[in-house]
Order: sequence, then C-alpha cells, then structure tokens
Amino acid sequence: MSAQHATGDADAPEDARHDIIPDDFVASWNETVDREITTVAEALAVAEAAPPDTDPDDHRLCPACLSRRIRHKPGRDMAHKRDGNFKCTNCTSHFNSPLPSRNDAFRDAAHAPDADAEVLLPQCPHCGSRALYPVPKRAVAVETRWVCEDCTARFNVPHRQATLGEVDG
Ligand SMILES: [Zn+2]
Ligand SMILES: [Zn+2]
Repeated sequence: MSAQHATGDADAPEDARHDIIPDDFVASWNETVDREITTVAEALAVAEAAPPDTDPDDHRLCPACLSRRIRHKPGRDMAHKRDGNFKCTNCTSHFNSPLPSRNDAFRDAAHAPDADAEVLLPQCPHCGSRALYPVPKRAVAVETRWVCEDCTARFNVPHRQATLGEVDG
C-alpha cells in the first residue's frame, strides 16, 4: 500500500476556455446567478465556482428536449450566432437561451409546486409524469408554463391529483 494521487488537478481545459470568450459569455453566466455580473472576470469566477459535475439539477437545460447535455459553442464570429450559441448534444437543436436549471426554475417560477406537498404535485396531462419543469418567466424559449421532462409535452395547465384529501397544513 502506498500513498497515491498526490495531485488533485481538474482536467478541465482551462486554457481553451479562457481563450475563447464569446460575446454573451458574461450574459450567460449572469442568467445563472442572482447578483448582476458585468465583467468577464466575474463571469469566469462564477464559472469556476460552478463545476459541471455538481448537482445535475443545477445544469441548464435544452429548451427543446430538456436534456442537460448542452454545450456552449465556441463561436468566434457572428455567423455562428444565427443558429444559436448553444447546441444540445441530445436532440442536436441549436438555441441561444438555455432553460434555467431545474433548481433555479423551482426557485423562480411563481407556479412551481411546493416540493414538500408531494400529493399536490401536478402531473403531465399527456403521460402522467410528475417530473415537470415549471418554466420561469425569464425562460423566453418556452411559452408555456410547464414542460414534461418525460415526454417533453408543453402545457399551461397540469393535471392535479389530490386524492388523499386536500393537504391541511
Ligand atoms: Zn435537446
Ligand atoms: Zn409527459
């Protein structure tokens, strides 16, 4: 038995990331936090503080399929922006505005359900799933109030099932 793993370097390619800073880099990170970010340095600080492998519910989502597997495209020139600055590696759609993370959505959306009152959790009217994403107002890419994470249906009024009697607390 011997000591090992003396170094703890992350394998993130930091050089590449610093080298390519798209115009909306600051704005993109600004969307992810409550305080206002106006400089690249601040955005980088936030980016460093938010490694991609933390809570998956902190990941922003593809507005088309709600996949977390979205990538920021290293577009240097304006031509790339016609398609969008992000690409979903799940459904290959391109977009400019990812949906806020699930955690952010539940914090932001006024109609987000109370996670404690599970019996009142709304259900997808199409597949019955309770894995619903409450679309916050700032998520301009989606016009409905809900997206089902299972079947990606979009709707404004979920099905509610409160069969155990209304929660009285
Ligand atoms: Zn997608
Ligand atoms: Zn569904």
